[in-house]
Amino acid sequence: MEHHDVIIVGGGIAGVSAAYELGRAGASVALLEQESQPGYHATGRSAAHFVQTYGNPIVQSLTTRSDVFFKAPPSGFCDVGLVADDGALFVASEERAHVLSELRSASFRPEAVVIIDRYEALELVPVLRPSQAAAALYEPGAGSIDVHALMQGYVRGIRRSGGRLSKGARVCAIGRRSGRWVIDAAGTALTAPILVNAAGAWADNVARLAGARPLGLKPMRRTMATLPIPLQGGVPRWPLAMDVDETCYFKPDAGRLLVSPADESPAEAGDCYPDEMDVAIAIDRLERLTTIEVARLDASWAGLRTFALDRTPVVGFDETVEGFFWLAGQGGYGIQTAPTLATLTAQLVQDLPAALPAETVESLSPARFSG
Ligand SMILES: Cc1cc2nc3c(=O)[nH]c(=O)nc-3n(C[C@H](O)[C@H](O)[C@H](O)COP(=O)(O)OP(=O)(O)OC[C@H]3O[C@@H](n4cnc5c(N)ncnc54)[C@H](O)[C@@H]3O)c2cc1C
Repeated sequence: MEHHDVIIVGGGIAGVSAAYELGRAGASVALLEQESQPGYHATGRSAAHFVQTYGNPIVQSLTTRSDVFFKAPPSGFCDVGLVADDGALFVASEERAHVLSELRSASFRPEAVVIIDRYEALELVPVLRPSQAAAALYEPGAGSIDVHALMQGYVRGIRRSGGRLSKGARVCAIGRRSGRWVIDAAGTALTAPILVNAAGAWADNVARLAGARPLGLKPMRRTMATLPIPLQGGVPRWPLAMDVDETCYFKPDAGRLLVSPADESPAEAGDCYPDEMDVAIAIDRLERLTTIEVARLDASWAGLRTFALDRTPVVGFDETVEGFFWLAGQGGYGIQTAPTLATLTAQLVQDLPAALPAETVESLSPARFSG
């Protein structure tokens, strides 16, 4: 038997960031990941945006609060910058241009964005079709997160604080005896009074194993593809460009152009592959939004973005099952909100005051689904 303060199920960004913050606060943590490496599922397949104007107001506030960590991580966390300041552009046609000011006034930090005209938008991203970019909402402080460096920083920190990270450790059964969870991790019995459910698309399955009521989390497939940069003269420094109705986005990424049809197809928890039709839709939408003509693709993949019914993450203790903590439902924002959600998890698990406003903590709590 190996005794810990906390067992975390799931080695994506949610699990590793929570393990890091709990370890930093002095807790003994065991993190269990079913795959042979952490970050294999949603975390390793994301578009890696850091965009403060993305998601509902609660999500936006969590992203904004994570900015400090991304811009100035704790000393020794990593040797490289975690976010490249490329900016983000939400573009609109003439008919949809009114939505931009609604977006701006609804955003958590309206001062972080400006509305620009067609000429300014085309200067930033010259391949946009003028008819599709009558105006745009520009967030200059947005950028791309180096997810690999972020994951490595968290994993190093877990090891430094003496945490256990077990790979290839699929949790198939969860017991509770004398106020402690008991889990077999690839042959070793682990116990802890608290279990953090950071199992991404599988979070409802893990809840069932622990005797907790599932929350109806919905895994949704999203498709990504890369193609050669369609220009002579190297990789351009364009911001992320997305149409205001989120039906297509693209940005330069590691010497290629990354494109997504921003699809959301309901799926089962599991490994996930792109559907050819969604890839074809991505190309079609990219060609409508820009003057790019796609001759060939380099790669395509898909991953699951898992949402709660109100599209707000679920963070907090289960109301009925003692010691069962939810850290799930991060949807399409789990990387950019991870630092704040991990800190909140460490505070709530250790029964410390939360650094977030009480109404935000309430909006994240699983208790909102009871009754
Ligand atoms: C295509 C795409 C684009 C995205 N773009 C962005 C973006 O631009 N910005 C952003 O912030 N977010 C983005 N996201 C969302 C982000 O990737 C997710 O919100 C985030 O990765 C979720 O992290 P997680 O740790 O909860 O889930 P995961 O990364 O899926 O991790 C859950 C882990 O739990 C493990 N697990 C499950 N069950 C068990 C078990 N029984 N035993 C042991 N281990 C188990 C799984 O193997 C998995 O590794 C995107 C997602 C996708 C798919």
